[in-house]
Amino acid sequence: MHEASLIQALLEQVQDLARREGARRILRIQLRVGRFSTAVPELLESAFEILKQGTPAEEARLDLHLEPARVRCETCGLEYEPEDLPFVCPRCGTWGGTLLQGRDLVIEAVDLEV
Ligand SMILES: [Zn+2]
Repeated sequence: MHEASLIQALLEQVQDLARREGARRILRIQLRVGRFSTAVPELLESAFEILKQGTPAEEARLDLHLEPARVRCETCGLEYEPEDLPFVCPRCGTWGGTLLQGRDLVIEAVDLEV
């Protein structure tokens, strides 16, 4: 499962941070998930529930913020939020475009107990 390795990496990052900050526990992790990131939110959540066991994040909550995608049409320059693939410009009908936002998986904030 792809999501499991993403969560594994996330937990390692967060534990590094906790160690640097001298924190005993990790209380909450806020994660931004792009609409067209490769990760499925439900699978991230279930992987987190399993992989956090035995780590300082054992009792942590994972908050996922879903970020809409933004695409720029290279024909007419319109920026729009596509709901699904493929991207079709609502103004000129061009297929495809540049994905400006909505691909990333980013840690937004971590709450630690020091
Ligand atoms: Zn267009």
